[in-house]
Amino acid sequence: MRLLLITLSLCCAAVQAQQTLAPGVLLVPGGFEAGRQPDGNSLLLKGSAGWLLIDSGRHRAHTEAALKAAGGQVRAVLNTHWHLDHLGGNAWLRSQQPGVEVWASPAVAQALATDGWLDRYRRQLAEALPTAPAEQAAVMRVDQDLLDQAAALRPDHEVKAAGPLTLAGRRLQVGVETAVSGGDLWVLDTASGLLAVGDLVTLPVPFMDTACPPAWREALARISAQPFKQLVPGHGPVMSRADFERWRSGYEALLDCADQGLHPAACAAVWRSRVDSWLDDAGRARVSGMLGYYFKTLLQAPKDQRERFCRRP
Ligand SMILES: [Zn+2]
Repeated sequence: MRLLLITLSLCCAAVQAQQTLAPGVLLVPGGFEAGRQPDGNSLLLKGSAGWLLIDSGRHRAHTEAALKAAGGQVRAVLNTHWHLDHLGGNAWLRSQQPGVEVWASPAVAQALATDGWLDRYRRQLAEALPTAPAEQAAVMRVDQDLLDQAAALRPDHEVKAAGPLTLAGRRLQVGVETAVSGGDLWVLDTASGLLAVGDLVTLPVPFMDTACPPAWREALARISAQPFKQLVPGHGPVMSRADFERWRSGYEALLDCADQGLHPAACAAVWRSRVDSWLDDAGRARVSGMLGYYFKTLLQAPKDQRERFCRRP
């Protein structure tokens, strides 16, 4: 199992400034700097009972920025999925906001349970840490610290089915997919028309570490049918509907290219041609390496391996 450690040169990272997307809607952009694991985008929605935070980030600085943007008043958290860049901040947030309530899919508990993905990852970190080079060890310790607080990462309420949900007094429509992590929630904010989709949409590439690619294609079609005005991806800038459809066409072209057995580099070029306007130099540099890895381990792996994340309860 890969540790999602993509680049390892030491660097410092600044949290990007928050953006106001609509009345009572703030984006705290995630980051993916060299030498660190990523933080997902976080979205703050102001309801009649305080702020709802959608995804809590991984690094303390990101979660702190979100809490500060909410004026220290986060009443509820919804995690789109269990990847630590969207969920890790739960632990620190609970320490700062006693009484905060967390909603997430049942896949979070499954990932943290004995022999679940995060439990295996925790053991793998413990095994690898003593001999890891200092820079890599520092990155690994961030996740180890989070997983040592597993109880604080778990939700208080499980979202098992799609439908309306009011959190912190804000009215939402929530969808449930399984394509990326086994339990992927999307959230449509009724008042603003903003749709937060977690890692169902990501840049610089689709993050396929725990994905079922064909199910993902179907999930994107369902998202396309939602009445949203703007879409907040798990990683990358806010998208218009046309932007989302361009991203989606890139995703489909990537899968088709892989299915036809074409060379990963050729498929990476197809992908880049659809999404290049969103990529900075760092993102562009990552595309080939990340897609090459996903082609080897998933998209063009032997059939059994290719569908290993499609067999989930
Ligand atoms: Zn993510």
